[in-house]
Amino acid sequence: MRIITLEEHYADQHIMDENNAFRGEQPALPPEQAEAMKFLMSRAFPGPELLDFEKRVEYMDRNGIDVQVLSVTTPVSDNVPAADAIRIIREANDITKKHMEEHPGRFEGFAALPMIDPEASAKELERCVKDLGFCGAMIAGRSRGRFYNEKEFFPVFEKAAELDVPIYFHPALIPMEIQQTYYMSDAYSFAVGSELASAGYGWHSEVGIQVSRMILSGIFDKLPTLKFLSGHWGETIPAFLERMDTILDRELTGLDKKFSEYYKEHVYITPSGIMSNDQLEYIVKVMGADHVLYAIDYPYMKPENVYEFLMDSSLSDEDKELIAHKNAEKLLHI
Ligand code: CA
Repeated sequence: MRIITLEEHYADQHIMDENNAFRGEQPALPPEQAEAMKFLMSRAFPGPELLDFEKRVEYMDRNGIDVQVLSVTTPVSDNVPAADAIRIIREANDITKKHMEEHPGRFEGFAALPMIDPEASAKELERCVKDLGFCGAMIAGRSRGRFYNEKEFFPVFEKAAELDVPIYFHPALIPMEIQQTYYMSDAYSFAVGSELASAGYGWHSEVGIQVSRMILSGIFDKLPTLKFLSGHWGETIPAFLERMDTILDRELTGLDKKFSEYYKEHVYITPSGIMSNDQLEYIVKVMGADHVLYAIDYPYMKPENVYEFLMDSSLSDEDKELIAHKNAEKLLHI
């Protein structure tokens, strides 16, 4: 069975160098924090594998993955000025295209967007879809602390709806003051707090909030063909749909539909490499198999049961086909 995976990251040395040029002098961390960061990087950061396409293709072949939809990891950091961000992101998207061309049939592309400038982002999305043949965009975290439901970002989503491509909401580091208040504690180490604040829970929670805010902003009443992708089995929101419908009901929101109706119609969910059979069954039950797509989060996650996880699940063959490739082919036009 053909397998297409959607949240698959790579890095590029030139793009990293471009970003580093804007880093400036970093304040020295207190010793415990510096030690913790070093430990966490050594434990989880897949530096070489982000750059190595030979290893990537070997991994895909070993796991029965026919196509990865590529996204460049952290295309620009928040301290890069708008004009440079636009330039660097164009370069990054061109590099994604180069990888697609070097491995015909193996890679598709999600556009990176310079969200600091929404009008430029809409233009770049159009260039990526129309000229480079990309199948959507991936945007991470927030831009300068602003959630994407704020009205300045509307042109980006308007363009995505017009081009009929989805936007994938990816997590990113959350602000220090939120990490401090919500996740750090004297009762455990800085390293534990840092992971709880990011890949353990914190940044997932932020993406769940992001998608909820998009829905509550009424964007789907304005753009009824707009579609989102949400990784990590929906970043906890699917479990809260009944609660959202009860507490944030239509009388309160003034929206045309219930929260869960927007969510189930416009949001498509991937596992992002969380290989949990319970989650797979639950999300298919809540969302329907036609709203679930496959994603591994390579190389941050490198499970070696990509094919078996889906094929050995309790789902029907028809549902497996949808999740493995048919939903992706339809949603991404590939
Ligand atoms: Ca990821």
